[in-house]
Amino acid sequence: MPVPDFLPVVAIDGPAASGKSSTARMVAVALGFRQADSGALYRAVTAARIRKGGDPGTWTEASVLDAASGVSVVAQERVFGVRLAGEVIDEELRGPAVTASVSLIARMRGVRLWANARMRECALVGPIVVDGRDMGTVVFPDAVLKVWLIADTVERARRRSIEMLGRSPSDEELAREATDLERRDRGDSAQTQPAADAVVVDTTRLTQAEQVAQIVALAKTRLRGERAE
Ligand code: C5P
Repeated sequence: MPVPDFLPVVAIDGPAASGKSSTARMVAVALGFRQADSGALYRAVTAARIRKGGDPGTWTEASVLDAASGVSVVAQERVFGVRLAGEVIDEELRGPAVTASVSLIARMRGVRLWANARMRECALVGPIVVDGRDMGTVVFPDAVLKVWLIADTVERARRRSIEMLGRSPSDEELAREATDLERRDRGDSAQTQPAADAVVVDTTRLTQAEQVAQIVALAKTRLRGERAE
């Protein structure tokens, strides 16, 4: 069987709660790639810094990078898992304390360089689907496929609420979630831009299966093209 002499990267970027991570995971399974979620890295550094205490407003970049030394990335069968002090902390990563401070940390230049280096290490292990904000623009500008995943704010808030609450949200809960998402979008706006050559996929009216199928089809076409060159 011919072995490709490149390790392809599929990059899925977009605003908060646009469904990047779950979509990336399913696309990775369909392609036989691994998924690496850059948001989980920023969240893990935030969790690590929170554990060291102090008011987020006083956190220095040096103290955040010191906390980041406890974060590691482990290659699993279809995903890169993020660990803090060797432990799986996925629930803590999605919790409100981390969500409230992650944008602050993600704006620190040294933290971005640290996260980008970890993501590029993942790409050396094998073909990957990466998701985040700047995967297609900054970290993997040569990605074989770049997707910019978007959805209406209210739809994003509805999906995020169902994920967090395990049920449909009330109007008030939905409005609060939409406000939170808009606040995070503003906090992340500097690093959240589509690549000029990204394919825009608006998932507002798509099921998850439909959006995954669309991206897998695009990726397969691009991968065939690249192998033929
Ligand atoms: O994707 P997720 O919502 O888990 O990302 C959490 C946070 O990590 C974002 O709100 C953003 O501040 C930061 N992030 C980033 N660049 C990335 C991925 C995430 O700044 N590539």
